[in-house]
Amino acid sequence: MLTAVKGEKIVCSSGHVCGELDVDVQDGDVIASSMLQLKLFERVDLTPDSDGHVCRACNERITVVRNGAYRIHTARGWIGHIP
Ligand SMILES: [Zn+2]
Repeated sequence: MLTAVKGEKIVCSSGHVCGELDVDVQDGDVIASSMLQLKLFERVDLTPDSDGHVCRACNERITVVRNGAYRIHTARGWIGHIP
């Protein structure tokens, strides 16, 4: 699990930049859906679906949500802990 900082880009596995983190994410942190909606949905190009989000350009997955917690894909890999 990685540590990411505010401003780190959310990137799909094809390399498209889909947004950026508006919060710091430490190793083991749970990224709650309420936090993600406030910090990310308003300002990034995400397409919600039933269990996360995909890149609008290529449909590669950029978030996974389970039990109200998100994992987010960055250039360095997946961040966020799902309890
Ligand atoms: Zn993409």
